[in-house]
Amino acid sequence: MTEQYRLDTLAVRAGQERSQFHEHSEALYLTSSFVFDNAAQAAARFSGEEAGFVYARFTNPTVAVFQERLAALEGGEACIATASGMSAILSTLMALLKAGDHIVASNSLFGATLQLFNTILSRFGVATTCVSQTDAAAWEAAIRPQTRLFFLETPSNPLTEIADIAGLSCIAHERGILVAVDNCFCTPVLQRPLELGADLVIHSATKYLDGQGRVLGGAVVGAKPLTDEVLKFLRTAGPSLSPFNAWVLLKGLETLKIRMEAQSASALRLARWLEAHPKIARVYYPGLPSHPQHALATRQQTCGGAIVSFEVKGGRAEAWRVVDNCRLLSITANLGDTKTTITHPASTTHGRISAEARAAAGISEGLLRVAVGLEALDDLQNDLERGLALI
Ligand SMILES: *Cc1c(COP(=O)(O)O)cnc(C)c1O
Repeated sequence: MTEQYRLDTLAVRAGQERSQFHEHSEALYLTSSFVFDNAAQAAARFSGEEAGFVYARFTNPTVAVFQERLAALEGGEACIATASGMSAILSTLMALLKAGDHIVASNSLFGATLQLFNTILSRFGVATTCVSQTDAAAWEAAIRPQTRLFFLETPSNPLTEIADIAGLSCIAHERGILVAVDNCFCTPVLQRPLELGADLVIHSATKYLDGQGRVLGGAVVGAKPLTDEVLKFLRTAGPSLSPFNAWVLLKGLETLKIRMEAQSASALRLARWLEAHPKIARVYYPGLPSHPQHALATRQQTCGGAIVSFEVKGGRAEAWRVVDNCRLLSITANLGDTKTTITHPASTTHGRISAEARAAAGISEGLLRVAVGLEALDDLQNDLERGLALI
């Protein structure tokens, strides 16, 4: 059904196969293993000669519906679901790289992703060079004969820097290098990296795909020869998605489009309000004309997304005053929820890096990140205004 339907339709329909009971909603199959008709069938399933389920570490009917639906939304040939976003990234790297290989990555990736590259993969002989997300010349200059992968995440967290997916894919493909894009912030509703030239899309399904903060999950989407390699790692190493989580995520996908559109529309209005606010020094939001890469963001994304970062006038004390006067916004580092969250990156998500490195990365003491949910905008503004009025 991938070809003929629009994204709205695919989000509620793609991948579903009904059992003999003709259930309307997707069934939740809580089974770890599957029974074969006879010894020959068991052998054929294990060898891969016959398609079909074997064991839930490989996949499961509920997980398979989620995989097919997300593949359809991203416009990819196949999808492999994993236990979390980090295990999707790990599985991709373990599947595609070997000792001696080299990665060029954005220096503004999700913190755990950078940790994985710099402290774990490095022990297995895979080196990473980190460069600015926005500097295509730096990506090109960082390429070595051993470079196998470009890894990016756009917009970045928390400063919403935009990487040019099409431009970087061109540079990579001229050298036979693969491009993986963490599409967590945009989801396929706002940005489809495979159409822009990327080879793999990676998701933390924990964020917007669930959208209601219930479960962990992850996914890798791309051409089948690549996802087959990821599956080989997954079925051997085991960071597989639980069928229950897959079922929750399927329900999340059904409302993904209306949530992303509503939360992004609210974020744009909040960003405009903040930009005009006398206590705010600067707003980082790709949907504002003041964003340095607004033109690229407009080409690459359907809108600015639901994450707004801003600097209050002053430093840590003033930023914390805004956080501590919130009664509605949740003080948490999570994002992608229908409940709006507020984070002070310098003392939380980016607290472990040195003050100098933080300053170099542009993460100031006055910076706050808001992940806009579905509450009424007026209520969100009033909540922020209580603290801003005290600055
Ligand atoms: C949260 C997040 C991850 C990791 O996902 P988990 O599901 O928490 O493992 C990876 N990338 C980005 C951009 C994230 O926000």
